[in-house]
Amino acid sequence: MPWREERSPYRTWLSEMMLQQTQVATVIPYFERFVKRFPDLRTLARASEPSVLKYWAGLGYYCRARNLLKAARAVVSEYAGEFPSSLEQLRALPGIGRYSAAAIASIAFGKPHELVDGNVIRVFSRLFEIRGDAKKPSTQEAVWMLAGEHLHRKRPGDWNQALMELGARVCVPESPLCGSCPVSSSCAAFEKGLQESLPETSAARKPVHVEWTACLLRENGRVLLWRRSEDERFLPGHWGLPERRHLQGVQTGALLRTIRHSITHHRITVSVREAKISHPLPSPAKWISTRELPSRLVSSVWRKAAGIPMSNGRGQ
Ligand code: SF4
Repeated sequence: MPWREERSPYRTWLSEMMLQQTQVATVIPYFERFVKRFPDLRTLARASEPSVLKYWAGLGYYCRARNLLKAARAVVSEYAGEFPSSLEQLRALPGIGRYSAAAIASIAFGKPHELVDGNVIRVFSRLFEIRGDAKKPSTQEAVWMLAGEHLHRKRPGDWNQALMELGARVCVPESPLCGSCPVSSSCAAFEKGLQESLPETSAARKPVHVEWTACLLRENGRVLLWRRSEDERFLPGHWGLPERRHLQGVQTGALLRTIRHSITHHRITVSVREAKISHPLPSPAKWISTRELPSRLVSSVWRKAAGIPMSNGRGQ
């Protein structure tokens, strides 16, 4: 993985931010493009938010990119550009929680801090036959305790990565490869044949269906975009097409396309319709030339809604 080839707090932090909610294979090309454009923390701290979002476009969960920029600026202003190594200081930075702080401290600085992610929960649940819904805080706390007890204190970074790797490659959710597992001789689940029933989970959260009507207004080679308020539930602060609810006096016409998009457990259906408006436009609306659209529209849902082809692996 590219973030392991040349290790630094900046690259470890960046990879951990990108890997939240996203598969390794998806992250690799994004990581490579990102570090080419923003090779170090100071370069990132000087960047504008739109330029950072542009290199994040397609990865989703855009608050991660905004927090990345805020944290880079905080490290420059509060720590003279040097990443702090203590858990408390790391956790005080935007977007860095318990797991990420432990990952940066142990992998980049060799500090003896355990960490727990979904892979580690699965491995420990099976090794020690931990019962109870793995999504519950009490179960997760039990895994954090075990992870702390078993941490390799001389090589905590390697240990943590090895545990996560074991979960990602061997102790996988379905049909774990117990025959080639290096810890099978001390695994409770393997001994009792419980691999497939651990970790225990309650039923998955039911998807919630949401419908939007997006308006495509065109005029002299320009398209009307809308800057979503920071209070919007979905995609706050993003440029997108205006929804019908945003525009007073808008008249919608033919259905141009239907887009389906998922955000967490929400399944969003966007009906994109031709539209016309006679009322004056409110301030979040702006006419943008079609040439400029790709750089304004970051989220794949708006890129598809505006008819911009997805490229460079930006298919999410
Ligand atoms: S023996 Fe099987 S269930 Fe146990 S840790 Fe290894 S892969 Fe997972």
